[in-house]
Amino acid sequence: MLIVMKKGSRREDLARVVRTVESLGFVPHVVEAAGKITVGISGNPGPLNPALFESHPGVARAIPITEPLKLAARNASPEGTSVRVGSRAIGDGGVFVIAGPCAVEGDHLVETARLLRAAGADALRGGAFKARTSPYSFQGMGRPGLELLVAAKRESGLPIVSEAVDEATLDLLAPVADMIQIGSRNMHNYELLKLAGRLKKPVLLKRGMAATLDELLLAAEYVLAAGNPDVVLCERGIRTFSQHSRFTLDLSIVPAVRELSHLPVVVDPSHATGRRERVPAMARAAVAAGADGVMIEVHPAPDQALSDAQQAVPLSQAAELIAQLREIAAIARPRTEAVR
Ligand code: PEP
Ligand code: MN
Repeated sequence: MLIVMKKGSRREDLARVVRTVESLGFVPHVVEAAGKITVGISGNPGPLNPALFESHPGVARAIPITEPLKLAARNASPEGTSVRVGSRAIGDGGVFVIAGPCAVEGDHLVETARLLRAAGADALRGGAFKARTSPYSFQGMGRPGLELLVAAKRESGLPIVSEAVDEATLDLLAPVADMIQIGSRNMHNYELLKLAGRLKKPVLLKRGMAATLDELLLAAEYVLAAGNPDVVLCERGIRTFSQHSRFTLDLSIVPAVRELSHLPVVVDPSHATGRRERVPAMARAAVAAGADGVMIEVHPAPDQALSDAQQAVPLSQAAELIAQLREIAAIARPRTEAVR
């Protein structure tokens, strides 16, 4: 059920709707976007009668939703959603650039963050905890890496995006990161998604490498249904029969997300291509396709990176690439005002 409040409805009207939903034992999800207020309901085992709510003052319509997607569906917030991370928002019409090394490796993170800020990035990425395919690959610095993330944020002013690989690391990252990444390998980890849903922190949800769009949206639905409205989707490439690329970047998911969901979508061309020479072209293509942002692995000395060295773009090339992305966004979305 999706309850649409009337324009100009009063706060008490909204509070009353919320109380009614709670008194039925269900969970209300209030979304305020572009001057419109809607209340999604989750936790109900079957369809609800719209009359339960349509008699409430301030309610314009109560729409029964029979589709599996409720809170992530486009009609839950038809104008689209933007998610604030640091001083900017993902989904505000501009392009939000998340850049940084695959993993937090040492002190040079702080200088990297400063230079990325100067290059025009909006957030710093870097995993203190890594979900690696091989148990013999670098698994991340762990807790000492958290201190470096804190120092990098303090020195650069950039908000931090970092991955939680399980419940314990989610607890450790929650006070440190400005946005919690749930990686491709964990997109189907529904217990972790529910825990991320209880956080008051934006979540960057990466598409599973063999997940369909419906599965990605339902994974997002887990986070939303647990009470966290701030979810950003991330396309990072899927497995296909192609051998020329680490994964196949499925850029057609960007307009498809727009049709089906109000959630912002960013694109990670680094894990998709696996090769630094190919990252700029696919980052530019992602912005041209309408992505709300990109996440790019950048390293001051790519060949020495402890993780994903082949796909790391040299830090010295970051400023030019970011400038290009902003120019493309300005052309690709001429009607938006605040394109950066
Ligand atoms: C990452 O962003 O460092 C990462 C491990 O990505 P993915 O989960 O998409 O493989
Ligand atoms: Mn990586």
